[in-house]
Amino acid sequence: MGVWQKEINTVILLLLATAIVGGITGLFLPLLFLLMLGLLMYQIAQISRFEKWISTGGRGKYPKTTGIWEEIYFHVYRIKKNEKRRKKKLGKMIDQFRQSTEALPDAAVVLGMDDEIEWANKAAREVFGLQPSDKGQRIPNLIRYPDFIHYLKSRNYKESVILPSPVDNRITLEVRIVPYGAGLRLLLAQDVTQLKKMERMRKDFVANVSHELRTPLTVLKGYLETLQDMDDGQSPLLTGSFQQMQGQTERMQHLVDDLLLLTRLETQQKKSQCVDVPALLTQICKEGDTLENTSSRIELTLETAAHITGDEQELRSAFTNLLGNALKYSPEDSLVKARWYQDKESIVLAIEDQGEGIAKTDIPRVTERFYRVETKRLKKVNGTGLGLAIVKHVLMRHDAHLNITSELGKGSCFSCHFPVKRVCG
Ligand code: ADP
Repeated sequence: MGVWQKEINTVILLLLATAIVGGITGLFLPLLFLLMLGLLMYQIAQISRFEKWISTGGRGKYPKTTGIWEEIYFHVYRIKKNEKRRKKKLGKMIDQFRQSTEALPDAAVVLGMDDEIEWANKAAREVFGLQPSDKGQRIPNLIRYPDFIHYLKSRNYKESVILPSPVDNRITLEVRIVPYGAGLRLLLAQDVTQLKKMERMRKDFVANVSHELRTPLTVLKGYLETLQDMDDGQSPLLTGSFQQMQGQTERMQHLVDDLLLLTRLETQQKKSQCVDVPALLTQICKEGDTLENTSSRIELTLETAAHITGDEQELRSAFTNLLGNALKYSPEDSLVKARWYQDKESIVLAIEDQGEGIAKTDIPRVTERFYRVETKRLKKVNGTGLGLAIVKHVLMRHDAHLNITSELGKGSCFSCHFPVKRVCG
């Protein structure tokens, strides 16, 4: 029999007894009233006991009772027990997660909505010098490097930021912020000291070797010129060899110059001045020497007189490289169009040629160092494979980007897009 049935049967029995006694004594209604009052009082007492038990957290075994109330106590007790078990399991999982993040070699800090520290692992406490009492403190008050503060405020966390450890400035950290959940962010920092050291060594090595090669190259070139002057043309072998040697020394000199320029772009501080780009482009187009005496092939259209903030020398190198390429990689009688104009989002220099074009698969690679497209015709064209790497670097230093569109057999268009905020003068 169900508990409810038992409960109903008891009430029916009580009612029957009241009816019988009431019938005999003629006091049915008062007795019924007393019965109802008794039942009501009993239920109120039970509710009050239950409220007392639950208000103390329902801890321990429930009070002894019978009927439906025992059933209610039992269900609540079971739910609480299950909840306790689940809580314990969850706590264990959180503990395991904390232990694993504590053991991570990379620093991890959980940041709240207002950049306050919610939690930090052991590595974070070590590299950032955080104390347990720093919990709740705003991180910009503890890590005060301007680059970091700018990165934190920017809310653009696609890139990472490099900074020295506030505890030991010999340690270089790469810091990245990963947003998650509702307004929370995870700050991750990795020790990249060794990586940066190797990178610096590579840069230093390239810079030193290029620099050291300059003097012997100049000496060789000087002697070669003297020998060529002395050559009476009697031996075609000698004359040919001198020409080959001169060509190769020049190539090597270009290589060294380009490598030194790239090193400078990687290491030197950016200079900022207001550059008269229209005047610069006019000058570059006129400079027959730099552009292989073919400036008449260039059609320059200046649709805007905009000047931009930047480094004139660097911009000159980039534009010269692009124009040089357009001339080099297109037929000698074809036209190269250079256009300086402004569109909605940027100020653009577009250089268009009618050359052989670049295959789709090669386009993403042409800006890599030393990458040259290996076609029969292009192989004959002199080059170092560093020109577009220089262009890319220069543009990066000017918050600009290079866009390349090209079609094989038709020609290419290289466009440099400068942000409008760089317009000056
Ligand atoms: P390079 O010294 O070889 O010209 P760059 O870095 O300037 O080096 O260019 C890389 C490669 O991209 C070139 O070797 C060439 O294959 C290709 N390239 C560059 N500009 C053009 C162009 N205007 N038309 C066709 N191919 C080009």
